[in-house]
Amino acid sequence: MFPNLNLYELHKELYKSKAIAPFINKPVFMSSNRPPTADILVPLGIDQAYSYQIPEGMTLDKGMIVEVPVGNKKYNGVVWSFSDPEIDYEKLRKIAHIVSDKPLPSQQLDFVKWVADYTLTPIGNMARSLIRSAEALQEEPPLKAYRITEERPDRLTPARTRVIESAENGLAYTKQHLAEISGSSPAVIKGLIDLGVFEETTLARPKIVDMPDPDFAIAKLNEDQAKVLNGLKQQEGFKPSLLEGVTGSGKTEVYFEYLADFLRQGKQGLILLPEIALTKQFLERFRQRFGVEPACWHSDMSAKQRERVWRAVHRKEVQCVVGARSALYLPFSNLGLIIVDEEHDPAYKQEERTSYHGRDMAIVLASLHKAQCLLASATPSVETWVNAQQGKFHYHTLKRRYGSGELPNIDVVDLKIFPPEKGQWISPTVTHAIHQTIDQGYQALIFLNRRGYAPLTLCRSCGHRFQCSNCSAWLVDHRFRKVLMCHHCGHEEPRPQICPSCSSEDSLVAVGPGVERIAEDIKTQFPDARICILSSDMLGGWGALQQQLNAIAEHQYDIVIGTQLIAKGHNFPKLMLSAIVDADIGLAQGDLRGAERSWQLLQQVIGRAGRFAPGAKAIIQTHMPDHPVLSALKNANSDDFYHAEWQGREIALMPPFGRLIALIISGKDMRDVMHYSKQLALCAPHHEEITVLGPADPVFTQLRGRFRQRLLLKGPKTMLSQKYIKHWLNHAPKLTGSLKITIDVDPQSFF
Ligand code: ADP
Ligand code: ZN
Ligand code: ZN
Repeated sequence: MFPNLNLYELHKELYKSKAIAPFINKPVFMSSNRPPTADILVPLGIDQAYSYQIPEGMTLDKGMIVEVPVGNKKYNGVVWSFSDPEIDYEKLRKIAHIVSDKPLPSQQLDFVKWVADYTLTPIGNMARSLIRSAEALQEEPPLKAYRITEERPDRLTPARTRVIESAENGLAYTKQHLAEISGSSPAVIKGLIDLGVFEETTLARPKIVDMPDPDFAIAKLNEDQAKVLNGLKQQEGFKPSLLEGVTGSGKTEVYFEYLADFLRQGKQGLILLPEIALTKQFLERFRQRFGVEPACWHSDMSAKQRERVWRAVHRKEVQCVVGARSALYLPFSNLGLIIVDEEHDPAYKQEERTSYHGRDMAIVLASLHKAQCLLASATPSVETWVNAQQGKFHYHTLKRRYGSGELPNIDVVDLKIFPPEKGQWISPTVTHAIHQTIDQGYQALIFLNRRGYAPLTLCRSCGHRFQCSNCSAWLVDHRFRKVLMCHHCGHEEPRPQICPSCSSEDSLVAVGPGVERIAEDIKTQFPDARICILSSDMLGGWGALQQQLNAIAEHQYDIVIGTQLIAKGHNFPKLMLSAIVDADIGLAQGDLRGAERSWQLLQQVIGRAGRFAPGAKAIIQTHMPDHPVLSALKNANSDDFYHAEWQGREIALMPPFGRLIALIISGKDMRDVMHYSKQLALCAPHHEEITVLGPADPVFTQLRGRFRQRLLLKGPKTMLSQKYIKHWLNHAPKLTGSLKITIDVDPQSFF
């Protein structure tokens, strides 16, 4: 993993090796007699910018957006560089016109280039993240509004009277606003406009957010927090920092103060959160500290909303953005600090299209801005933790909860000795603890990281198992929606009455529990309790999720049953019990990060309880009470866990001690995929330090209707494996038909 290298070192290395060419900033008018050309990056899947003639009289700057012809189409492209044309100048086509003369910041262009090179993505594909709609590039047009005139209609209806009365103060209103305050329909207003009772005018649009006030509500930090903040403030130069602190230790409070410092200097700040942690609650905390909400950036925004935020950042009208990983691509020009909260969260890794790790790219972006980068987590990734131990990152810790919160007492229930009653999933210990908790007026959380009712459905008579037709995965029984569903491709089918294989009736059984099944169990045991299930497939999007989370925080439920959705970043003041139904799910997976993920997730779930009062409890049900992850949890000793993991990975030369790049070969025909994968493996260039493993079956040999094979490149972490892969693929047999290679640098999962 590259965060192991000091980023500056890595930069230098990559530049030296020409894996990344620095921008050539040649002047527009060169001394040679030939007129200059501009290289324009267009959003097409090619790995270079195209050269064009600059028409006479057109002055260009790097980062401007222009329209250019490609084939018989026209595209908006970014002015990428200027060069001497190597081919016949006269043959080059001309740039059509300038779309936006307000250049994108050079750091943004450098960033995109960096990501493209690092992730082996054709630069043209990255152009999509630079080029916005034409409207986003222009100043926002003012709102159309209407002001009342001296004119009055001959015929007055009650509706007309209401409109006129509402507008008689002489202010300008939008049609919609006027309709709202007068309680009339837009048609009535339009009628009055036509009669000359209203005249058109314009209104300035409200800003998306006001500037945050760094001194709005300065927090009083406790001694531990103040120490960390001082340490952070004294750091100079570029080196990322890790703030490791147990949940509820006040990390957010500390980094808000740190951020305030940069805002005071007029610098921009970016807080990255895993999408799911980007809650109303978080925005509200920001508002309480800085007086205004931050600008947001997440996937649930409309194209219009995104456009407004993008434009405001481009025009420096926004000083602070809170967003999901793709906020890294916003046109920042003056970043002082990037905070990556919950830095260990797998959601930072994008796996579709360009696969990049948001945390790692945040470090890159910070380095390009000469900004600071702070990673915060209660359970840092092993990579980050090792970097901090080795002094590559600054290291700060908060060991205790803030105020009266205490970490819960942890009980491990060995299911081999204390099994639940037959047909149930909750052991008597947990049932008893739930009773106690709700009797005392508190809230209990039951955690199971499995959506739906049951992960597998089979036929008792013939043993038929329901599998997805597109993927090598079982179909999950979703009782509420009465379907069997594939969690990988979204395929759904109704749950049949009769076995499709042997035609037996009533022979289908659900195997194992999902959250819906646990809920069924709990409802019979606690008929009077207020129960809620929180799972991503039951919700009507972000808004509904926020409502549900608020309802939980306000203690509208006694028992909350949830998947990992519940584990992240929320404060539930009344929650005093966290019960984990099956701690073994992740541990049994056996991939590189299985133990780490389980440890992080379980720690987060445990940490939900007792944020504001002592005496909280966590109970973990397991069949493997002696597993290192469970003993580290039980003894609340994270160092034990990290050291064990460190050792294992160092011996195996796994990240962060080695580097992995996965190549997934996929296609519609299994034999083609197998054959090509073998060919590709055979033509891997020999290199002393690099091993190419495979082809092997990934966890899913079929996904979304495509067959898959995996090759895994393993090399030392200092190796410039990207160069190696480019060389390799240049010499590989041609891809034919539906075959495709997807490259995943630093893979996180092994699907
Ligand atoms: P973390 O981010 O480490 O999980 P938080 O920053 O959310 O912790 O803090 C946990 C709780 O303690 C929050 O409710 C927060 O408002 C409160 N808190 C933390 N530090 C302070 C402080 N210095 N002053 C007042 N409240 C604080
Ligand atoms: Zn059957
Ligand atoms: Zn599927």
